[in-house]
Amino acid sequence: MKLPVKLGLRGELLLIMCGVLLVVAALVAALWLHEKSSSRDARELSASAMRELAREGLLGRGQTLSSQLADAATNPLYYLDLAKLGELARATLRQPDVVYVVIHDAEGQVVHDGSGDIPAFGQPMSDPMAYEALNAEGVHGQWSDKLLDVASPIRIGGERIGGVRVGLSRESANRREQEMLEPLAERLQAASNEHLGWILALMAALAAMGISAVSLLQRRIVAPISGLAEAAARIEQGRYADVKVASDRQDEIGELVRAFARMSESVARHDRDIRRMAYTDSLTGLSNRLAFREALDARLLTLQASSGELALLFVDLDDFKRVNDTLGHEAGDEVLGQLSMRIRMAVERLGGVGAEIARFGGDEFIVLFMAEDIRTSSGHLAESLIEEIQRPLVLRGRQVFLGASVGITLFPFDASSAGQLLKNADIAMYQAKVAGKGCYRFYSKAMDQAVERRVQLEEELRGAWDRGELSLHYQPIYRLADKRLMGAEALCRWQHPRLGVVPPSVFIEVAEQSGLIESLGRHVLVQACQDAATWSQPGMEPPFVSVNISPRQLRTGDLPDVVASALAATGVMPRQLHLELTETAVLGDEVQASALLSRLRATGVKVWLDDFGTGFSGLSHLRRVPVDGVKIDRSFVADVLRDPDDLALTSAIIAMAHSLGITVVAEGIESEGQNEVLRERGCDQGQGFWLGRPMPAAEIQRHFRE
Ligand code: C2E
Ligand code: MG
Ligand code: MG
Repeated sequence: MKLPVKLGLRGELLLIMCGVLLVVAALVAALWLHEKSSSRDARELSASAMRELAREGLLGRGQTLSSQLADAATNPLYYLDLAKLGELARATLRQPDVVYVVIHDAEGQVVHDGSGDIPAFGQPMSDPMAYEALNAEGVHGQWSDKLLDVASPIRIGGERIGGVRVGLSRESANRREQEMLEPLAERLQAASNEHLGWILALMAALAAMGISAVSLLQRRIVAPISGLAEAAARIEQGRYADVKVASDRQDEIGELVRAFARMSESVARHDRDIRRMAYTDSLTGLSNRLAFREALDARLLTLQASSGELALLFVDLDDFKRVNDTLGHEAGDEVLGQLSMRIRMAVERLGGVGAEIARFGGDEFIVLFMAEDIRTSSGHLAESLIEEIQRPLVLRGRQVFLGASVGITLFPFDASSAGQLLKNADIAMYQAKVAGKGCYRFYSKAMDQAVERRVQLEEELRGAWDRGELSLHYQPIYRLADKRLMGAEALCRWQHPRLGVVPPSVFIEVAEQSGLIESLGRHVLVQACQDAATWSQPGMEPPFVSVNISPRQLRTGDLPDVVASALAATGVMPRQLHLELTETAVLGDEVQASALLSRLRATGVKVWLDDFGTGFSGLSHLRRVPVDGVKIDRSFVADVLRDPDDLALTSAIIAMAHSLGITVVAEGIESEGQNEVLRERGCDQGQGFWLGRPMPAAEIQRHFRE
C-alpha cells in the first residue's frame, strides 16, 4: 500500500487497528439491528398467536353458547313459548361478553331477543351478518371488528324451524391479549438492552485490546527500530561515537540490536583503519596531504571563531633529487625517514600546541604551527628546522649533506583560506630557494608578482635559444705575469624582445629551477666549442674556452658524453676546454662528483672551481676534489686592497693551490691595484673589467687574431 504521506510503522498500525475496530463496530451494529428486528418479529408472532388463541377461545365459547341455546330453544320455538324463550335468551345474555341474543324463525324474523316486551318481534333481521347466519348449515361464526356472531340453526326432524344468534364482544379478549403481550414486550426489551450492553462492553474491550496492542508494538518493536534507524543515520554521517545501541532482551529484537551494535563497531573500526591508511604517509608515518588539508580546514574554522593565529611552514629539501639519483631511492627513503624524525623533534622542542606535521610530496614537508607572537616563533622554528636538516646525515657509513628552504605564511594576515595559505607558503618557499636556498622567507604580497614574473620568464626562456635570443659573450682571461691572453669565459646573454638584456643572474636561476638548464647547457657547450675552434693561430698555443656548468648538469651524469660529443663535433682539443663548477655543485656528494670529474679530467678536459671561497667547503676541500684550477670569487678580489683578512685569505688560497699543483684565477679585477697585488702574490691568471669586459664572439675572435 502506497500512502501519500509518510505514516511510519506506528501510524500504519494505528490505521490497521482503527480499520479493524470499524469493521467490528459495523458487524456488531448489524448484529444488533438483526437482533432488534428478530425480537420485533418474535413479539409480533407471539401477539398474533395469542390473538388466534383468543379468537379460538371466543369462537369455542360462542359455538357452545349458541348450540346449547339452539338445543334448549328447539321445543319452546316449536310451540312458540315466548316466556321460555325469553328465559333462555336472558340466561345466555347473562354470560360474560355476550352482547346480544337473537332467536329467529325459519324466515329470519326475530322471535325473541331476551328483552321484556320484544320490540323487534316479527321483524326480519337486517344487520350485515344476518344473511350468512340464516343460511348456515351448521354452527357458523362471523367476525367483525368488535364482535363475534355465532349462529346455530334449530331443526326438528331434518326440517329447519329457525335459529339462534349469539353476539360476543371481542373487547375483553382484546384487553386480555394486550395484558398478556405487555410483559412479553418488556422482557424482550430488557433482553435487547442486555445484548446492547454486552455489545458495547465487547467493543470497549476490543478497543482497549487494540490500544494496548498498538502501544505494546510501539514500545517493543517500533521504538527499537526507530532507534536503529537513528543510529544508522549517525553511522552514515560518520558520527560513530554517537551510536549507542544496546539491549538485554532475549528475543529477536534484542538479537537484532546486538547484531547492529556489533556491525556498527566493525564499521567504525574499518573506517578508522581506512582513515589511517588514507591519511598517513606510509614512508614517514606523518599525515599526508589529505589529512593535512582536513586538519587545516578544521583548525581554520575554529581559529576564525576565536580570532587566533597560526603559521604554515613549507619545508622543501634542497637538492634532494641528487640523493635519489646518486645513492638510489632506498637511500632517499631513508633520508626522508630520518629527516622527518628531526622535523618532528624540532617542532616538539619548540612546543607548538597542536602542531601538525605532514609530508606533502617527495621532499616537501609542511608544518602547521600555533604559538604566541606567531611571526617571531615561526621564524625560530624555521631556523631550527633548517639547522636540523643541515646537520650531516649518516647513511650506510657515509655522510650526506642536505639543506632545506622554508616558506612561511601567517593566518590571518596573509590569507584566510587553506588553499591560499598553502599557495602562499609554497611561493615563500620558492623565494627562499631563489634567495640561495638553506634559508627561510615569510610570504609577502610582493612575492606574488615575483612568482608571476618568474613563471612568465620561464615560459619565455623555453625556446629562446632556438629563436636566437640567447647568445654567448666572452670575457678574456689573462696570464697576470705577462698579461698574455690565455683564453675566455663564455657567458650567456639573453636579448629579451621586450625586456632587453636579461642578466644571467636572473635567468640562469630560472633555467636551473625549471630544468631548462640541461638543454641550455648543452647548447652553450657546443656553441662555445664552435667559437673556440676559430680562435687558434698557427704556431701558437691554442687559447682555452671556459664554460660554466650548472650543478644540475653535473647531476644528470651524462656530462662526459655531452662534452665528448661537443669536442668531437668541433675539433676542439680537450685541454682547450675548461669546465667551471661551483663549490656547491661538488659539495654534498663528493664521492660521486669526484668520480665524474676524474672521468672528465681523464679525457684531458680541465675542471675549475668557480666562485671559490664563497661556499663552506674551505681549503681542505681542494685535497679531496680533483680540480685543475680555482677561481677566487670577486668578493675577495674587490676587498683585497682594503681588507687585510681578504688579502691573507687570497694569499693562503694561492699558496695552498700551488702546493697541490692547482692553477689560480682571480675574478673581478676592476683596478690596476688589484691586478698588481694579485700578481705579486703569485696568482696565475685573472679576468675583470679592468682587463676586459665580456664581449661578443666576433670581437673576442679579433682579440685572439691580433
Ligand atoms: P661567473 O661564472 O662567476 O661569471 C663571472 C661574472 O662576473 C660574469 O657575470 C661577469 O660579467 C662578471 N664580471 C667579470 N669581471 C667583472 C668585474 O671586474 N667586476 C664585476 N662586478 N663583475 C665582473 P655575468 O655574465 O652576469 O654572469 C653571472 C653568472 O651567471 C656567472 O658567474 C655564471 O655563474 C652564470 N652564467 C653565465 N653564463 C652561464 C652559462 O652559460 N651557464 C651557466 N651554467 N651559468 C652561466
Ligand atoms: Mg664562471
Ligand atoms: Mg665566478
